[in-house]
Amino acid sequence: VKKVVIVGGVGGGASAAARVRRLDEFAQITIFEKGPDVSFSNCALPYTFSDVIDQPDGVILKTPMQFEQQYNIDVQVNTTVVAIDAQAKTVMIKRQGQVATTIVPYDTLILSPGARPILPAVIAGIDRPNVKTVRNVQDVRTIQAYLTEQHVHDVTIVGGGFIGLEMAENLQQAGYQITIIEAAEHVLGTLDDEFAQLVHKELYDHGVQVILQEQVTAIGTTQVQLASGRAVTSQLVIMAIGVTPVTELAVQAGCALGVTGGIKVDHRYQTSVADIYAVGDAIEVTNRLTRQSTRLALAFPAQMQARHMVDHLYGRTPDYQGVIGSQVLHVFTLNVASTGLNATECEHQQLDYRFATVAPQNRVSVMPGTTAVFLKLIFSYPTGEILGAQAIGQSDVDKPIDIIASLITMHGRVSDLTDVELCYSPWVSTAKNVVNMVGLVAENVLNDEFKQVAVTQVRQLVLAGAFIIDAREPQEYADGHIKGAHNIPLSQFRQRLVEIPTNQPVYIHCQTGQRSYNMVRALLQRGYTNVVNIAGAYAELVQYE
Ligand code: FAD
Repeated sequence: VKKVVIVGGVGGGASAAARVRRLDEFAQITIFEKGPDVSFSNCALPYTFSDVIDQPDGVILKTPMQFEQQYNIDVQVNTTVVAIDAQAKTVMIKRQGQVATTIVPYDTLILSPGARPILPAVIAGIDRPNVKTVRNVQDVRTIQAYLTEQHVHDVTIVGGGFIGLEMAENLQQAGYQITIIEAAEHVLGTLDDEFAQLVHKELYDHGVQVILQEQVTAIGTTQVQLASGRAVTSQLVIMAIGVTPVTELAVQAGCALGVTGGIKVDHRYQTSVADIYAVGDAIEVTNRLTRQSTRLALAFPAQMQARHMVDHLYGRTPDYQGVIGSQVLHVFTLNVASTGLNATECEHQQLDYRFATVAPQNRVSVMPGTTAVFLKLIFSYPTGEILGAQAIGQSDVDKPIDIIASLITMHGRVSDLTDVELCYSPWVSTAKNVVNMVGLVAENVLNDEFKQVAVTQVRQLVLAGAFIIDAREPQEYADGHIKGAHNIPLSQFRQRLVEIPTNQPVYIHCQTGQRSYNMVRALLQRGYTNVVNIAGAYAELVQYE
């Protein structure tokens, strides 16, 4: 009988245990979990603050008793694995509230201890009772008690990643005044700047204050102090600036760490120590696009690594592919999804890339309740290999991103997007799906059919006094426009060609990039070789802060 000991009973740990049981009815499986709960949805934790999930325990998927009854898996909560003896193949455990320790033997040890939120010691007051993090059900219980008992009104969230934004949304829905402090130029590092502006607008429209390019220096009882000298009123601070892998136990056992600080594993998730495996947020993984070591603290990799690792234990040969980082989050009325590399990462990696953007309606415009889908595709130049994509909208934007993610995993190219045959009915999409559309624009870019610049360059263009045409209708122009832009609508330009200079570059933009593109194509055919499309939507131009 194989003795399998698992450290950590949530994302990776619970998945590994269940997979072992499916492959081995007779294995002796023990999960040690230092917290009071196992197998809960970390990802649903933020929703316990609004009325989406009515109580913290609502995120629990399986109790220790259910593990015992359904799977014959021994789950020991409030029990910390404090040491590993890799030679003797034993772990030392300590139950909460007890001084004594117990030694437990293993044949295979699986580490899935997760990651812990980063709490920089340089921030004065970081250990105050009004500074909290969100990692498990116990954290949620503690925060909820604090909110009520201390009559909190204002909450500062430090960090504009997905956990920070989900907390902002749910706490705002619960009636709290929210400020997000983000050190970078924009929230959500997975997005490029112009797409993040759409998220900034959404936060701003829902009364969330977003302070960018600011660092917290000190936290007091009622105020958060920023490096610029600015102070923000708040009685509770949620730290969400990222996580760091939990590696102490692995290091103590002699397991090597990788260059990113995560536990180093091979293609079967085996650590450098025999019979010790590791999965989840604690490990280092390979990015399948850049082939570089990275870390990815997400649920899909954790549970899939667990399955692959156990498959290997039982003689199967799983295929280690590495990660591409597909993710989605919900922010108020928006869904925000991304996969693969963004433009910033491509520049960082010195990859030659091009991009294409489209912003069509999610379904045929005559149908009720249509909304815009903002989609950006990043691809390698000149091969056209798809590198990444970002999508934002009120509809299910994870759908185009999932299609693109599937193609990335199959080394898909731009031509695969133009040709992929997808479902269509006016209720669900457009005959030419947004995925096909972005592929067609990308194909034009690849073939150098026209010149384009990103909306992010508009500020420099304006400062340099560039000639910019706004191809929208006069009323749209009157509602707001780029400073100094000349309003020559697509519907009028053929009668107003004399207003379009031929002796300098002419940059053309509109609401979504479609009308401007049509004008660019027409002008090119009329001999204007100086026209450039401003790729991207007008909404992405506005800087919200
Ligand atoms: P965990 O699930 O954290 O489990 C590790 C467990 O190990 C912990 O319970 C810990 O107490 C225990 N442990 C650690 N050391 C010991 C020890 N020595 N002895 C015993 N037990 C120990 N991912 C997504 O893909 N999509 C999302 O929408 C999403 N939302 C999230 C929202 C929040 C608020 C959080 C916190 C995470 C979210 N994630 C999301 C990330 C996802 O939950 C994690 O990537 C996943 O849970 C990782 O699994 P894991 O097993 O590595 O770590």
